Amino acid sequence: MTLTDAEILRYSRQIILPQVGGAGQERIRKGRVLVVGAGGLGSPALLYLAAAGVGTVGVCDHDVVDSTNLQRQVIHATPDLGRAKVDSAADAVRHLNPGVAVVRHPVRLTASNAPGILTGYDAVVDGTDTFASKFLVNDACVAADVPYVFSGILGFEGQLLTVVPGRGPCYRCFFREPPPPGSVPTCAQAGILGPVAGALGSLQALEVLKLLLGVGELLVGRLVLFDGLSLSFREVGLERDPRCPACGDPEHRRPLADEAAGGCTR
Ligand SMILES: [Zn+2]
Repeated sequence: MTLTDAEILRYSRQIILPQVGGAGQERIRKGRVLVVGAGGLGSPALLYLAAAGVGTVGVCDHDVVDSTNLQRQVIHATPDLGRAKVDSAADAVRHLNPGVAVVRHPVRLTASNAPGILTGYDAVVDGTDTFASKFLVNDACVAADVPYVFSGILGFEGQLLTVVPGRGPCYRCFFREPPPPGSVPTCAQAGILGPVAGALGSLQALEVLKLLLGVGELLVGRLVLFDGLSLSFREVGLERDPRCPACGDPEHRRPLADEAAGGCTR
């Protein structure tokens, strides 16, 4: 279906970009993107993906909004306190852009439900807040052959990587196992500044839009390290490890499983 006049007007500031155009906007509209975790990273990612006109946005989160979330999780507001995050996020997305279909997954992502939840999505944003969840999102996306954008944040710092299965390394290629529970401080212990989450979550949305459009250079094989105190970005080149338990050669792969691990990167 071609774009309506209202859509052409609504998205005109991005359609005018030669890398987007009408055909690119149709690709964005056809896009189905799952955001796992409607928190500090998921909030800006969801809002920018919805604003850009991604046709279907999925939200996976089992939590409810509490007052300590509002300092950075900008998709939720004070009247949402106590509500399920998927409901609060879905309302915010519909309010921003009624043209976006929202699919709510009000559960914690697990090794057993991940394959079903991921089915049909073109890309995933990792907005989770524990190492166990991050490894699960990685392994589930690799197993399902779905590209995803990783981010982890703590304090003033953040990391970003795009994983396209078959085209580059995955998160587990270099962070082989989650750190032991308690060995890495959580956000509740170490703190997090809201705009750091905002910056990294926005960059995740940017990577997803580039993926849907097929333009630019994705962060495949390049881990970006963001330091908000010095306002600097560094980049570390990475290669796929053929012995990786998630994306390595078949004899090294392990079946999808949940892991017990502590820590928080949101
Ligand atoms: Zn790997």
